[in-house]
Amino acid sequence: MASPDLYDILGVDKKVSAEDLKKAYRKLARQYHPDRNPGDEAAEKRFKEISAAYDILGDPEKRKEYDNKGASAFFGGGGAEGGGFGGAGGFDASTIFEMFSDRFGGGGGGARTSGPPRPRQERGRDLEAETTISFDQAIHGAQISMSVPTTATCTTCRGTGARPGTAPKVCPRCQGRGIESEGQGLFSISQPCARCHGAGTVIEDPCPTCQGTGAIRTVKTYKVNIPAGVKDGSRVRLAGKGEAGRNGGPAGDLYVITRVSPSAIFERKGDNVEVEVPLSIPEAIRGADVEVPTLDGRKTLRVPAGTRHGTVQRLRGEGPPKLGAGSGRGDIRYRFVIDVPKDLTKEQSEAVDKLSEVMDSDPRAALLAQAGSAG
Ligand SMILES: [Zn+2]
Ligand SMILES: [Zn+2]
Repeated sequence: MASPDLYDILGVDKKVSAEDLKKAYRKLARQYHPDRNPGDEAAEKRFKEISAAYDILGDPEKRKEYDNKGASAFFGGGGAEGGGFGGAGGFDASTIFEMFSDRFGGGGGGARTSGPPRPRQERGRDLEAETTISFDQAIHGAQISMSVPTTATCTTCRGTGARPGTAPKVCPRCQGRGIESEGQGLFSISQPCARCHGAGTVIEDPCPTCQGTGAIRTVKTYKVNIPAGVKDGSRVRLAGKGEAGRNGGPAGDLYVITRVSPSAIFERKGDNVEVEVPLSIPEAIRGADVEVPTLDGRKTLRVPAGTRHGTVQRLRGEGPPKLGAGSGRGDIRYRFVIDVPKDLTKEQSEAVDKLSEVMDSDPRAALLAQAGSAG
């Protein structure tokens, strides 16, 4: 069997220009592309021959070598009598495959020209987990311990998903490219391979531990540092604590969502907290120095005489630490409420009677006068 003439395969003259050679190759490649000839083995074989021939002639260095030494320079084996596409000792399938995939493999995920196929690396998914903390922990920060259901790299197969001793195989549908072309042959829109979903490899003998997924379910316990100032619904990111990556890919992240138990006295309002502070009637009238709670202890506020119900005083910068960009702390807002007693002692009752006598102006006079003139 004689070595095939690569120029014949591409249907060109030996003196063909590089430009015309390329044109001839493209025309044939389109014609015999497997996507255009589904199930046609002869066409597929021809396509591989065309691809392999152009692999050599399309490269000026290789073409020169071929012109000087003939096909045996590339395909080894038996020289003039040993060659022949598909023939024994000549251009074997793997050689064709390598050339083929070389040409069409494209970027990541394609088969390599040497060594076993390497499945594409995939980043692990991000995970979310909730934790409930006290108001105090949210304000001051805390280290908590939490258990998170997640997946880990299968130790049996080291994440490949293949039974130990076996390896993922090059995907037969896409020949390891991970993509397949839709419709119009070579120059068409590509999409992920339906068989391998873009991985370029398939697992024929799955790992018994993980059923071929490369991952096992597990529960991991993490110590999580909750930063001071988190709110109900804050997301704390733990880099690399999400799901394990596949095939050596990086792990995802874990987002811890903080649920904050309400405080008996403080109410969170954005970056600030609010507190209701009762004042006695005399305190509201006369003014007073009153002791109020802060996030760290107590402080004394000067309440001016004639303070109305609902008046707010604030302690700037005494509130919760602000998270994220910019530092500093929010405020504590003290809202004064007049404490009106329901039960009075005899002495108090008499004092109120006396007060009524001396404070006898009608506080609603102006209101009623306005209402009268308005309608
Ligand atoms: Zn496994
Ligand atoms: Zn595939």
